Amino acid sequence: MVILSSALLAGFPHGFTTRHGGVSRAPWESLNLGGATGDDRAAVEENWGRLRQETGLGFARVRQVHGCRVVTRGEAGGAGDEADEADAVVTARPGLAASVLTADCVPILIGDPRTGAVAAAHAGWRGTLARVAATAVEALVREFGAHPENLLVAVGPAIGPCCYEVSPDLAERFVAEIGPSVAMLHPRTPRVDLWSANEAVLRAAGVPPERIEIIDRCTACDAESFFSHRRDGARTGRQVGFIAPARTPFLD
Ligand SMILES: [Zn+2]
Repeated sequence: MVILSSALLAGFPHGFTTRHGGVSRAPWESLNLGGATGDDRAAVEENWGRLRQETGLGFARVRQVHGCRVVTRGEAGGAGDEADEADAVVTARPGLAASVLTADCVPILIGDPRTGAVAAAHAGWRGTLARVAATAVEALVREFGAHPENLLVAVGPAIGPCCYEVSPDLAERFVAEIGPSVAMLHPRTPRVDLWSANEAVLRAAGVPPERIEIIDRCTACDAESFFSHRRDGARTGRQVGFIAPARTPFLD
């Protein structure tokens, strides 16, 4: 299994899975963690079992709907209801990872070194414009008393500005709603930079720029490492971004 990590989040059990280390067959080979794109159910379950074994964590999951709803998990001791529709998860329960599935959308992991609480958010273009990353920050503030200026954030592997061509209308919406630096308004091939857009959303929510790390690995460019909906179409897998509370909160 190959799991990517962020230097900024070293104090938290966390990571971004890649295709490596699972049992699914093509076109889902091999560590597909998504159950809704046609892969064999038993293979997906085996992959989740391997991830639990590899990390020693439980996983709080939700049914992602490209919105900005956030749910809190782990208070009653369980991982919660996986049928819950939301695009961000927060928790402060040690051993339980907040997790999101992606295949081009941006996985965003947030840790609070002071309280140990964490959040994971899923941001495609809709969730980015809906400011789901800011909603996750607000939930950490509201639920656990976090201060945005203390948070540490990793913005994970996603479709990069190299590959994310969009309609002229959508590129113009990003410029109007987030800022001129997050879209390239080329007349034939307008593109959006979802990493920069989410970084702008996080900065507006009060997270200092030096506390945001962008893992700039493009899912569409790198077929060896990542599933990509844009590259492969509907029949492909999902990778997961996850983060669990720090066992001992720390100030850095
Ligand atoms: Zn690319």
